[in-house]
Amino acid sequence: MKKAWSILPEEWREILISASVRPFRAEQILHSLYRDWIEDWDMATTLPKDLREKLKEEFPITKALVKAVAKSGDGTEKLLVGFEDGEAVETVLIPARDRFTQCISTQVGCAMGCVFCASGSRGVVRSLKADEIVAQYMLARKRGEITNIVVMGMGEPFANYDETLRALKLLNAGKGPNIGARHITISTCGVVPGFEKLASEGFQFELSVSLHAPNDKLRSELMPVNKRWPINELVEACKNYTLKTKRIITFEYTLIKGVNDSRAQAEELARLVKRVPMAKVNLIPLSPVEHRPDFKTPDEKTLLMFLDVLMKANIQTMLRRSRGKDAAAACGQLRLREREKL
Ligand code: SAH
Repeated sequence: MKKAWSILPEEWREILISASVRPFRAEQILHSLYRDWIEDWDMATTLPKDLREKLKEEFPITKALVKAVAKSGDGTEKLLVGFEDGEAVETVLIPARDRFTQCISTQVGCAMGCVFCASGSRGVVRSLKADEIVAQYMLARKRGEITNIVVMGMGEPFANYDETLRALKLLNAGKGPNIGARHITISTCGVVPGFEKLASEGFQFELSVSLHAPNDKLRSELMPVNKRWPINELVEACKNYTLKTKRIITFEYTLIKGVNDSRAQAEELARLVKRVPMAKVNLIPLSPVEHRPDFKTPDEKTLLMFLDVLMKANIQTMLRRSRGKDAAAACGQLRLREREKL
């Protein structure tokens, strides 16, 4: 049984033809799903009743619900989205002057085990299906018109490659939600085989790579994935990706006090980033997490020093400000809190 929110527009035609339904119904189905935003096939009143019954049985619309909302003073909203089996993921809505960004999850928990990240602190429960990734958008869009999507919620997208890409293709489809590919960012901790696969898709999605350390010794301590795909292999994959796609790669670097925030480390990072053509850097001050009270956010002076070193090395760098802290919007924390309440 396939779920309606996992079927790409071009696939509906094929499905109907093979079921001997006239193909013009595909347009009506797509209109119902992505212009009328139906949540139940009974609402698709342009379709004949027998077709609606068939769709209900064979291509049901995913049941997902908002189980909790946490609002932050800066306008950020975090939703806990529950699925049919009772599992839940987080999605965060981040309003800004010129855009409305949604951060979506691809897995319940995460297997990557980055030591500073709450999502991975209890391992992975399961991967989401494409329709469950799309469902997060479907629930969020009722709260405002979403212009941008970042795959930076719970989970490692390249560890759930096929379902994630299917969901993003659907969100991007002109006859679907129609979110521009350049407004969709995939973030990976560095699962190298994913780079080549993504480059061969021919999509214009943006790619971010979570780096967080300028050398293998420290990166392996912070991110176990580095033992499998160390920095040299990662840089090689990034180079090939940029050469093939002509697209920029953004390196994410979460700054942790006394761990990866020294001047020498900034200089080492600058040298590393220069090995990749068309790369830029996002610096993100750590959001403190309960399971690692020893990890702290660097002070303002250190953040600016680190930024300055990269800028002077002619690297395009942004210092991001963490949003939604008072909504426990930082990385995996709402789900953990909700579980602790049970
Ligand atoms: N697995 C993917 C996407 C999810 S994490 C990846 O690793 O890129 C999204 C981003 O949040 C990553 O850059 C991740 O390293 C970062 N992150 C995780 N925990 C954090 C924390 N406590 N403070 C700041 N950034 C964090």
